[in-house]
Amino acid sequence: MPDERCSACGGSSLTEHQEHTVETDKDGNQTPVTRRWTGACSQCHGSGIS
Ligand SMILES: [Zn+2]
Repeated sequence: MPDERCSACGGSSLTEHQEHTVETDKDGNQTPVTRRWTGACSQCHGSGIS
């Protein structure tokens, strides 16, 4: 079986991740927070190969 580059990360093994959460600040107000980070591809689990 030939190795094929992961279509999600293009073989780089890293992808942008985004997470949306709601946090409560010290005054009790709920604020939507978006976090972005670059990390191991969730499709190929960092192998770069699909
Ligand atoms: Zn990948």
